[in-house]
Amino acid sequence: MAKGFTNPYNFVDVDVLKAPEKKNKKDTVGINNAVSGVLHCKIIAKTSIAIPDAETEKKESNGHKSYDFMSISKNGKKAFFIPGSSIRGVIRSVFETATDSCFSIFNETSGKGKKRIKYSVGEKACCDGIDLCEACSLFGIISKKDNNAIGSKIRISDAFLTKGNVDDFKTTVVPLGTPNSSYKKLYVMKEEIEEKKDNNHYYKARRKYYWHSDNNKQIYNNWKNGLKNNKSVKQKVNASLQLAPKNTEFTFNIFYDNISEEQLKQLIWAVNFWENNENSNLCHKIGHGKPVGLGSVKIIVLENVKRVFSSNEYKEYVITSEKVCDSSTPFSKNNKVVKQLFKICKFDTSFNQSLNVRYPGVKWFKNYKKDDMKTPDINDVANGQRLPSLD
Ligand SMILES: [Zn+2]
Repeated sequence: MAKGFTNPYNFVDVDVLKAPEKKNKKDTVGINNAVSGVLHCKIIAKTSIAIPDAETEKKESNGHKSYDFMSISKNGKKAFFIPGSSIRGVIRSVFETATDSCFSIFNETSGKGKKRIKYSVGEKACCDGIDLCEACSLFGIISKKDNNAIGSKIRISDAFLTKGNVDDFKTTVVPLGTPNSSYKKLYVMKEEIEEKKDNNHYYKARRKYYWHSDNNKQIYNNWKNGLKNNKSVKQKVNASLQLAPKNTEFTFNIFYDNISEEQLKQLIWAVNFWENNENSNLCHKIGHGKPVGLGSVKIIVLENVKRVFSSNEYKEYVITSEKVCDSSTPFSKNNKVVKQLFKICKFDTSFNQSLNVRYPGVKWFKNYKKDDMKTPDINDVANGQRLPSLD
């Protein structure tokens, strides 16, 4: 294996010049054979998860901050949870990718001042509320004002800790590093939109995903006590977090209302990648610290309780976990985007270690700034290509 490293994230391709397929909002209500119900789901931590509770922030004299894991008080005890909004974001993102939907949330610029990179979402701009892409039909339209979804057909509950416990100590998370926008190739890669608006170059927007990196051991051993080589690592630029360790489990519900069987299948696919099995290595990333290996989770459906309305009455069906993905997959494994997703969502210890995930340092940027080196895309990385180490 060549020496080198991998940037913490990469991009799944999007054809921004192709408009998503849209349906008029009116046509998405009153679907024939609509189903409603609830998916009882479980999150299994494959690496530690960090969901910092802002209300528990403690600040030291040098500016270093520490946070407890998110919780509410239940019967005088702390009940730890992952907010439903975080889970929703992760599932929607995969759903948008697989269905080639619009970008519901997208920062159109990154970087500061002159180094700012501008992106164009082209035809994939967020839906207008009348004609809806597949993601907006199911998840609703995100209101720019308050980040709430309008017209959503699904509701996702908070996920409460049901197995294991959060750490009784805090881990000082390795400084995340700052992506350096002066090396544009690393972030926007090769394709640039031909069109120039207001004298600015626009780069094609793409969908960002983090590699699983499983460098949890390193985080724990070196940073558990906030010490490295007997020197404090508690600085202003990093934080100490209470984590939910590997193998902890959280359960939650996804309520769906009046959707088609096909939408239900696609939703389940975005939850479990059509592998409804705890040992499946197709995993999501959730919460804080994604660049340093935190937040790898497998989500499975424990039970699908489906209500079907026919002849003026509701019939309830319980589909058990092993039968949830019985039928054929809604998204082909040969689909270009699905292939890329499967590569970057693969949680596999030896592959993840071989990635040697980290942000490039200052020295690296100095050396490569003017260089015309091609940045590896998802397929290149999966085939073993790494960025050369210089620092
Ligand atoms: Zn949309």
